[in-house]
Amino acid sequence: MAAKVTAVAVDDLLEAATADVRAEARALRARAHGTRVTYSPKVFIPLTMLCRDRCGYCTFAKPPARLASPFMTPDEVLAVARAGVAAGCHEALFTLGEAPEGRYPVARRWLEDSGHASTVDYLAAMCALVRDDTGLLPHANAGALSHEDLARLRAVSASQGMMLESLDPDLACHRGAPDKTPERRLATLEAAGELGIPFTTGVLVGIGESRAERVRALEAIADAHRRHGHVQEVIVQNFLPKPGTAMHDHAPCPPEELWWSVAVARLVLPPEVHVQAPPNLSDDLRPLLDSGLDDWGGVSPVTVDHVNPERAWPALDVLRSATEAAGLTLAPRLTVYPEFALHPERWLDPTMRFPVLDRADAEGLGREDAWCSGGTEPPPVLVGAFPLPAPPSGAAEAPGPARSAGGAVAEVLAGVELGQEVGEDEIVTLFSARGPEVRAVAEVADRVRIDEVGDVVTWVANRNINYTNVCTFKCRFCAFSKGPLSLNLRGAPYLLELSDITERVVEAEAAGATEVCLQGGIHPKFDGDYYLEVIRAVRAASERIHIHGFTALEVTEGARRLGEPLVDYLARLQEAGLATLPGTAAEILDDDVRAILCPDKIDTEQWLDAHRAAHSIGLRSNVTIMFGSVEQPRSWARHLMRTRALQRETGGFTEFVPLPFVHMAAPIYLQRKARRGPTFRETLLMHAVGRIAYRGWIPNIQVSWVKMGAAGVIQALRSGANDLGGTLMDENISRAAGASHGQQMDEEGFRALVEPLGRTLRQRTTLYGRAPTPC
Ligand code: SF4
Repeated sequence: MAAKVTAVAVDDLLEAATADVRAEARALRARAHGTRVTYSPKVFIPLTMLCRDRCGYCTFAKPPARLASPFMTPDEVLAVARAGVAAGCHEALFTLGEAPEGRYPVARRWLEDSGHASTVDYLAAMCALVRDDTGLLPHANAGALSHEDLARLRAVSASQGMMLESLDPDLACHRGAPDKTPERRLATLEAAGELGIPFTTGVLVGIGESRAERVRALEAIADAHRRHGHVQEVIVQNFLPKPGTAMHDHAPCPPEELWWSVAVARLVLPPEVHVQAPPNLSDDLRPLLDSGLDDWGGVSPVTVDHVNPERAWPALDVLRSATEAAGLTLAPRLTVYPEFALHPERWLDPTMRFPVLDRADAEGLGREDAWCSGGTEPPPVLVGAFPLPAPPSGAAEAPGPARSAGGAVAEVLAGVELGQEVGEDEIVTLFSARGPEVRAVAEVADRVRIDEVGDVVTWVANRNINYTNVCTFKCRFCAFSKGPLSLNLRGAPYLLELSDITERVVEAEAAGATEVCLQGGIHPKFDGDYYLEVIRAVRAASERIHIHGFTALEVTEGARRLGEPLVDYLARLQEAGLATLPGTAAEILDDDVRAILCPDKIDTEQWLDAHRAAHSIGLRSNVTIMFGSVEQPRSWARHLMRTRALQRETGGFTEFVPLPFVHMAAPIYLQRKARRGPTFRETLLMHAVGRIAYRGWIPNIQVSWVKMGAAGVIQALRSGANDLGGTLMDENISRAAGASHGQQMDEEGFRALVEPLGRTLRQRTTLYGRAPTPC
């Protein structure tokens, strides 16, 4: 954290060369925010363009005679918001004049006729309407407000904002603006802090204030933030003269003055406060990046900037290119920044917590696309054709991540390429990759895959047998089990007869399956002997089919119900015919997360102990991770580290199987307590980072076609994955959660995915031997 800038330091700033100030700001941005630059995809809703203030630079405010109606109607508001949803926006920015009912009778009458006591009253109603109808997150920008009005808006918005503008009380441009006194602005900023409102504020540059006054305003913002921690971003906005305003003949803010001000904001404000400059008010974006900003603010694919309608938003591609050309990455955010979104109890009204969660990714940023695990929306293309061609002979170095990624991600990848093993912090860093960094991580993972297992892509012919969906446990993500609390979910409770199991094995073997995968709920009537009976039922049909079955929970519970040591119980299962264990029931091996997801299930240590015991008697197993519901990347890293440590000890894991959370019918999502699964970027990275983290320890990375669909599988195969898992006749568990990619795959289906990539498809046994050729 940077020390508070003292008066002496401010003097230094005022005297320092602009180039030095900007260089220092860039360095501070890199330390505090790495390579990430954010923007908020949003729509602007100018609820009223009437305003009781008369600011000398403003064309937003209009007299009633120039407006068709004093306020937008609810239908007009919804039309804009719905267009925003269709265009992938997350935020509805309500921007409006200040308390026009205090100046215009027509505004007062309109509000009275509509049943609203004030503009803020109507604004609160429209925020709630947009939130509830569209899911867009309202940001209320209603000017200088009382404690009471801020509190009312907090209940219906994710964040609020008010430009401080300047603390100079004598500015000519503010003479007709009773709401622009420094006292009213500072009181609003303070009240927002007291109320725990994630708050946006900022300064206007070039409206007649001096540099020293500008720094004083930034210091006042910094002080308020130090008291309350609520300032999420500070906008540094340059004045541009507009025809028809009192300041029409004033000179625009010189670009160099804006750049200096952005840099000074970065240096004066606490480093965690984000610094923004509107990208549509500058012709050249690079100098702004070089001055230390880390946010571009709201950019709308739908609406104009109603405050500066003559300045079009740059296209997202332009913004991305400019950002990446500076060695930075661009990420969409919500109106509320991650530092606040990830601590909803402190910063969000209870009614706003799920709307924020529903639009967030694991880092608390905005979801990048509409893809979700098990859904039908196609994924974005994040990795294209590679590996890259070999460098020409004599070239100094192979194409590597340093060329396409900068900052911490590139540093970690450079270490990986030198053979270093990644630790927990490095894994978290890799999961933060965006844009070209994602491609760089995937490229390195792909090279590791080639080194470890070559170009063969494997699959296994198997059948799932889920003998019961009745379960005494209450895992909050599980849409499969039918306990008393979930009888309203789809599907009726069932328990297969042992003869049904035998029959399904006969069918499976006849269809060419080499493996049956056995897992199910924990039926209250089961004791450990049930699982032995299941094995005997399988063996009654086939002496040779591979029995892959029973989660760590099932075997732990089976041994417990029999009062038998786990390792003895596993040995009896093995003797009866059990060959390998699936890695399910791992979910996330981090007890803080398990306390939310599956509080009555085995904990992290028990899951690891079950696999340790299995490995100790020669039963091999795999590692799964179910990710994307409530946890953050730190927990993913711990999961990878803990399983890698066990693998180092036992060598018993055959593969890593990422299982992206399918949210559609999951109880925890329906209870509005979880995200809608991982984003596609996160899912792809789980395969790539898993490949990197397990290098030298776990050779196989499996991609789930049930959850990823064909287009997702192809990209995962380019990001470190080498196995497609099973054909899975009767896949029930993902389907119960809402996945829609079918119940069965066949060899031709797999071939169509693999061969266009120049890879070889090969059927395998469960333990990655060559599958027997059918006679
Ligand atoms: S995940 Fe397994 S243990 Fe948990 S409720 Fe579902 S079936 Fe039961």
